[in-house]
Amino acid sequence: MKTETTIQGLTASLSPARSSRKIIGFVPTMGNLHEGHLNLVREARRLCDVVVVSIFVNPIQFGPNEDFENYPRTLEHDSHLLAEVGCDIVFAPSVEQMYGHKPRLTNISVSDITNDLCGLQRPGHFDGVAVVVTKLFNMVQPNFAFFGQKDYQQLAVIRQFVRDLNIPLEVIGVPITRATDGLALSSRNGYLTEEQRKTAPIIFQSLKEAEQQLKQAVNLAEVLENIKQTLTQAGFIVDYVEARTLDLDKIEVFNQDVVLFVAAKLGTTRLIDNLQVKYTA
Ligand code: AMP
Repeated sequence: MKTETTIQGLTASLSPARSSRKIIGFVPTMGNLHEGHLNLVREARRLCDVVVVSIFVNPIQFGPNEDFENYPRTLEHDSHLLAEVGCDIVFAPSVEQMYGHKPRLTNISVSDITNDLCGLQRPGHFDGVAVVVTKLFNMVQPNFAFFGQKDYQQLAVIRQFVRDLNIPLEVIGVPITRATDGLALSSRNGYLTEEQRKTAPIIFQSLKEAEQQLKQAVNLAEVLENIKQTLTQAGFIVDYVEARTLDLDKIEVFNQDVVLFVAAKLGTTRLIDNLQVKYTA
């Protein structure tokens, strides 16, 4: 496995793969890798000849009061894990390498679907994601790019600008990897105290409970209210509990497949999760 920290080095490492028309798979991450990330890499390994993983904590997708400075940076450990799952190239650029010294005057802003859910709580976040992912796509020029359904809205935003801008690659969504108690794996779980970690799986439990209620024809608004109450009683500060169609359109009644979304804080740690619920008439 090679590690590259410059765009030039990355291009040189990818050059043999490009000239022999190998299928390149790409997994963008912010590092501090866990099984969720590794499952994306395994999927890339399964479908592609050459697997590139980027590790870059992207400053422009963090709000002023978010955790950019404290975000865990564990490159050495990440590299061991990536070597074990068969990654070929790790791309770990500095902020300078990514953004240079001159001001950036170009933005990539996806409308509508970003003015909802996490986009309302984190203004500018998805613009920051769209810019960095587009830059990385241009550097790696992959055939396939892999993203987790854990960040369902992010995946939708990426699919949208890839389609709108004719970026020549295929986006693959990978299901959420969970701990055995149901908590969706996340680098931010490491911020939780022991006590909070015990409380955190209630998010997934409340989503599964909601799924059961929907199947028993409980009204959608009531189901969402029940999740909110469960979480609040358990000590979460709820940012939102919402239901959307698979394309993130608003929905009032459960008359088609839906995705249930939760964002909630335990102390200062913000956790997100989602669950797709099938509609069977
Ligand atoms: P991050 O390092 O948090 O930016 O995540 C990098 C990629 O890993 C994104 O596509 C995430 O959606 C994905 N990811 C993170 N956690 C999980 C998880 N528990 N299950 C599936 N994908 C995940």
